[in-house]
Amino acid sequence: MRRFVDLHTHSTASDGTLSPREVVRLAEAKRLAAVALTDHDTTEGLAEARAAAREFPALRFVPGIEVSAQPPSGTLHILGLGIDEKGASLQKLAEFLRSARRERNPKIVAKLKELGAGLDMDDVLAVATARGGRGSVISRMHIAEALSLKGHVKNISEAFKRYIGRGAPAYVERQRLTPRETIAAIRSAGGLAVLAHPAQLNCGNRAELERIVRELIRAGLEGIEVYHSDHSPLQTRMYLDMARRLGLGATGGSDFHGAAKPHVRIGSPKVSLAALGEELVGRLLG
Ligand code: AMP
Ligand code: MN
Ligand code: MN
Ligand code: MN
Repeated sequence: MRRFVDLHTHSTASDGTLSPREVVRLAEAKRLAAVALTDHDTTEGLAEARAAAREFPALRFVPGIEVSAQPPSGTLHILGLGIDEKGASLQKLAEFLRSARRERNPKIVAKLKELGAGLDMDDVLAVATARGGRGSVISRMHIAEALSLKGHVKNISEAFKRYIGRGAPAYVERQRLTPRETIAAIRSAGGLAVLAHPAQLNCGNRAELERIVRELIRAGLEGIEVYHSDHSPLQTRMYLDMARRLGLGATGGSDFHGAAKPHVRIGSPKVSLAALGEELVGRLLG
């Protein structure tokens, strides 16, 4: 019996480096019980992943998406797990977010040029398409890789620190919708709305985090990503405690991006079916 799942992964449909099919194959090679594909702002990879998963009867496929929302602080990402990608309002939201990316990315490239790190949008697009992606979701990850390929930085981490991370000189905001609108779109597509990697909210303290989570619950939030490759054991315990006290489903995943985040492995941290609990297993894998 397979016992472990990974409910947060990215493919070439957004800023991962493996195709949707390859992500599913890797999940099968790790003998996972289930894998969710949760690309940023798109459901484009889901059909391919679902078809690939049909070859593996012991692996359940969970169609998902990860969407950015207006953050109270830090980064606010909401996962939609078990979505029906035909949902019209979810598709409308995703298209809005992709168009906001198309508006922002050239501004980042222009700032980089001013800073002496010359790059064209074509260089950025080439990073996405070289791996078989269609380039419909271009993230700062692609820009970071292009900066590295051009020799402006040694690696992706330096690209974020020196140039494009929040607070760095070439950072440009992009438009996002409110958490309420984001959660509503996910739920109207039948998805479970989950607060992704709560650590990235960068809350000063536990009380502040709890205040934000309670507000998100009022906006329709149903789960919290307790297990994530960025979380320390202490954080994981804190989020689990919060999930139990506030009645949220506890989910988890690696946030796998392939070679773009080489230290993040699919299926790690380990998230068991038992940790998800019967209700979530029934809802997402049933
Ligand atoms: P965007 O959605 O375009 O704002 O880009 C954010 C993406 O860049 C995230 O999904 C991560 O994959 C990646 N990312 C953000 N911050 C960092 C960082 N400090 N180091 C490496 N990758 C990062
Ligand atoms: Mn990413
Ligand atoms: Mn995220
Ligand atoms: Mn992610």
